[in-house]
Amino acid sequence: MKKVLILAEHKKGSLKKASLELTGASKGMEVSAIVFGSDAKAAADDLAAKGVQNVFWVKDAKFDHYHPEAYAAAMDQVVSQVKPNIILGNASSLGKDLIAKMAARLDAPLAADCTEATIQPDIKLRRPFFSGKAVGTIEFEPAELVCITVRPNSLAPGEVSSTAGKVNELAVNFDFASSAVQFVGKTEGSSDKPDLTEAAIIVSGGRSMKTKENFKILNELADVLGAAVGASRAAVDEGLASHDMQVGQTGKTVNPKLYIANGISGAIQHLAGMRTSKVIVAINKDAAAPLFQKADYGIVGDLFVIVPLLTKEFKKLLGKA
Ligand SMILES: Cc1cc2nc3c(=O)[nH]c(=O)nc-3n(C[C@H](O)[C@H](O)[C@H](O)COP(=O)(O)OP(=O)(O)OC[C@H]3O[C@@H](n4cnc5c(N)ncnc54)[C@H](O)[C@@H]3O)c2cc1C
Repeated sequence: MKKVLILAEHKKGSLKKASLELTGASKGMEVSAIVFGSDAKAAADDLAAKGVQNVFWVKDAKFDHYHPEAYAAAMDQVVSQVKPNIILGNASSLGKDLIAKMAARLDAPLAADCTEATIQPDIKLRRPFFSGKAVGTIEFEPAELVCITVRPNSLAPGEVSSTAGKVNELAVNFDFASSAVQFVGKTEGSSDKPDLTEAAIIVSGGRSMKTKENFKILNELADVLGAAVGASRAAVDEGLASHDMQVGQTGKTVNPKLYIANGISGAIQHLAGMRTSKVIVAINKDAAAPLFQKADYGIVGDLFVIVPLLTKEFKKLLGKA
């Protein structure tokens, strides 16, 4: 049976849904996982409860923040112990960086940012190319080890098995002081909304929002839907939204079930970041806006009228009125 090593991610101890998509994809296989951080106990326990046979928890607080060399050293230790055939992670900032690094270190092929992924009995992968204009099937040449990253919201979350595994604390020998890479600091956004790259629903605003304060109506709609709030680059460049909200080629790639674009024209660079969304709703007062060609549903009209109406109706529908 093929062995899988999952790079698991958590937020303040809570296992990310995207990691559960990876356990779901590995159902019935021999699965190990690695998780980092002194606050990751609950996430490690959760992985074991989901049937991951061996969870390696790097508990040392020095690993609370991503350090590429130190994390790779930890991965090296687990890889030499477990000898996986597949290293599986999310196409998150961490997964994209660390798994690409591991592929290079271990001289293993990498399929990055897959939007369709089956790993058993055979590996079947598909991923977008050319900013999503084409989707290709990936096949590996025979290899002892392959590396795969999967875009969040691409797979169904699930457990590996109903038999709980065990958590092993992993001590990693890494000389932080001598490393060329030093952790300087981390600034976290203050938003209580879901992470943009993992959100199941995103409400996004463009240049047409005109002021920062006007994003309030998008935040209200997002709160009712449990959504994250995104923005076009024009909105970010004009100071209406923060950089971490930018969706697109030079922003974040998102893959929600529902993307509601408010006053966003649909430039190719914006589409590059959101065109794999399962359902796209465009609200624009210009019936000829290019985004309508990609949208599943379109509303032609003034967003400042339509968004509050939607919020009101969703409140009623969802019993939040
Ligand atoms: C190298 C490069 C990288 C880029 N990367 C990105 C990226 O990552 N993400 C990104 O988004 N863009 C990116 N861009 C910019 C991109 O080309 C567009 O300029 C940008 O996406 C436009 O943003 P927008 O749709 O908000 O603004 P506009 O194109 O100005 O569109 C505004 C839309 O709002 C509509 N509108 C106005 N008022 C209302 C109203 N009251 N109600 C309803 N609709 C209204 C208008 O009809 C119009 O369609 C990049 C560009 C380059 C060159």
